[in-house]
Amino acid sequence: MSADYTSEGSVAVITLNNPPVNGLGLETRTAAVAAIRRAEADATIKAIVITGAGKAFSGGADIREFNSPKALTEPTLHTLIRVVEDCAKPVVAAIHSVCMGGGLELALGCNYRVALPGALIALPEVKLGLLPGAGGTQRMPRMVGLDMALNMVVSGAPVVSEKLAGTALFDKVFPAGTDLLGAAVAFAEAKADIRPLPKVRERSVDYPDHAAFLEAARASVKAMAGPFPAPLECVETVAASVTMPFEQGLAFERERFLHLMQTPESKAQRHAFMAERAASKVPDVPGDTPVRSIASAAVIGAGTMGGGIAMNFANAGIAVTILETQQDALDKGLGTIRKNYENTVKKGKLSADQGEQRMALIKGTLDYADIAQADIVVEAVFEDMGVKETVFKQLDAVMKPGAILASNTSTLDLDRIAAFTRRPQDVIGLHFFSPANVMKLLEIVRGKQTGKDVLASALALSKKIKKTGVVSGVCDGFIGNRMLEQYLRQAYFLLDEGALPAQVDAAIEQFGFAMGPFRMSDLAGNDVGWYIRKRRAIESPQIAYSKSADLLCEQGRFGQKTGAGWYDYQAGERKAYPSALVDAMIVQHSQDLGLERRAIGDAEIVERLVYALVNEGAKILEEGIAMRASDIDIVYLTGYGFPLHRGGPMFYAESVGLPTVLEAIRGYAGGRHGEAWKPAPLLERRAAEGKGFGG
Ligand code: NAD
Repeated sequence: MSADYTSEGSVAVITLNNPPVNGLGLETRTAAVAAIRRAEADATIKAIVITGAGKAFSGGADIREFNSPKALTEPTLHTLIRVVEDCAKPVVAAIHSVCMGGGLELALGCNYRVALPGALIALPEVKLGLLPGAGGTQRMPRMVGLDMALNMVVSGAPVVSEKLAGTALFDKVFPAGTDLLGAAVAFAEAKADIRPLPKVRERSVDYPDHAAFLEAARASVKAMAGPFPAPLECVETVAASVTMPFEQGLAFERERFLHLMQTPESKAQRHAFMAERAASKVPDVPGDTPVRSIASAAVIGAGTMGGGIAMNFANAGIAVTILETQQDALDKGLGTIRKNYENTVKKGKLSADQGEQRMALIKGTLDYADIAQADIVVEAVFEDMGVKETVFKQLDAVMKPGAILASNTSTLDLDRIAAFTRRPQDVIGLHFFSPANVMKLLEIVRGKQTGKDVLASALALSKKIKKTGVVSGVCDGFIGNRMLEQYLRQAYFLLDEGALPAQVDAAIEQFGFAMGPFRMSDLAGNDVGWYIRKRRAIESPQIAYSKSADLLCEQGRFGQKTGAGWYDYQAGERKAYPSALVDAMIVQHSQDLGLERRAIGDAEIVERLVYALVNEGAKILEEGIAMRASDIDIVYLTGYGFPLHRGGPMFYAESVGLPTVLEAIRGYAGGRHGEAWKPAPLLERRAAEGKGFGG
């Protein structure tokens, strides 16, 4: 059963029981409706308590029912709430831990609500591009007031129960440590004979001059919402709680909810939500695979990446030792970490004590003996196979048996790195993104011999350090950077053909990317790509590149760090100013190539950059480098600034239609540098079959 029925004297106790968070799926709803009816029919029962088993009252809708007809199968959440609200006996919601979305809407259908402190109360639907669709927008303002309800519905952010203790939402917030069920049953007994039964729907929203308040809310939400329609719809439906009678408001909420369900933005957000959950599952590594305990860590190299990686461990309370070859490099790295924490404290995001505690978890050393007992070591030394070989041979010699040996390499062959050790099953790639203490994405690179328990441990670690882990197979650039290379190739070809950096950046930023390719390269350092292209010229001379980026680097314009790149920069500023010198260089280069520059439309720019990602993504999927298309989307959403409202490159391609995407790619394949556009066979097949990429 997914809702248990027991009785305590004259009080029936209905316990929602659908782990992990008592999602209100069809079975749970059906059982809950049956339980209410049973209590109603039982003459010995005078009152009812609804509570949740385990670690939640209820987290809301069951995400497993997303996009399935089950969500609309009777009894729907609306029906359940109506059955509760129409029950002839008093119903008390006994709330603890988590009460969100549909769970909160169910509680609002009850006659009374009691809670423990510390329970997270939220209506988070806006985060999926929706609004609370089962009365939340109408009932919440009646209990917590118009402004508090509006804030909660528009932001989706949780509020702890004790902060709402002064509102009508809770009839009682018990002291911490109270036996909730016992107290709720006693509360229900005391209310058993009180009539009429109080109903939220019968209250009114009292807000003097609500029109002015709502106008101001509309203006500020509109300014913040960007391309997302849901926040404004949230305002309008909450507004209906004061401007319309209850039933009419409920009907309006329903209509706007169904409208939002169909918007591409909500579809993209729901896709991203599901994709993030799917990413942590590996088909041949079952959820009960034993994981290795990670209580201590080591990092090799205190450079740009090593410092940030060490901070991730310290932030999660894991002691970490950083190893360097030279004392001054170590001091510099530790100094940068300290400065980072000091800045976070200055911004008020961390208390001074917390900053010190984290710093105290980080030690430096020059001696491998000091790291030998660490449960995991992450190597972040120079990107050079020779240096990696020295380090991994050392690690193999000193690390305790069972330690996980990870490399942060961006481009090198992990299987070769593993072969430097006598324990390739313990070797894995942990590819962090810069700045490593900030960026959410962690590509977890699974080598040919990586142990399943090591992979499971890395996935568990990624959660512990609050990263989004995505598993990638071994290939040059893994998922993200391999696709980025094709995207950048197109960006550079566009320069040769007639575009300028500022135009390309503006077009793709208008599409929704956080940053265009040229601003991004200036931030990351243009020398990184230069180094890779030089290697490519030797390893794969058949791959054509525009020379424009090399010409830029030959002038020492490596980006923000040298004060000049694709753009000009002014000291102390990050703002990119178009550079007359670079633009002239680009025009000259077209001339040297004998190309007549043409006006290139923004649509072509967006198409070429995004479809280059899609085509390479399809190849990556077919080769099994990515387990699923949605993993590729998560890489781009969390690591590369792809716009969330478009759901990631693969989802976007599906929403455009794979045949349309393929047709465009075939068109480009017939043009200049057509070999860059050889369609991925998977894309051709799926387009012909009328299918998508399959999750
Ligand atoms: P970096 O040059 O900033 O730092 C490398 C550090 O390693 C230096 O402090 C150096 O003194 C130290 N080092 C070199 N040889 C060593 C050895 N044998 N033992 C101990 N320490 C040694 O480089 P980085 O940008 O931090 O890159 C490190 C790794 O991370 C590379 O594999 C790189 O490909 C990868 N990576 C970099 C980025 C990025 O954006 N910078 C992103 C992802 C991955």
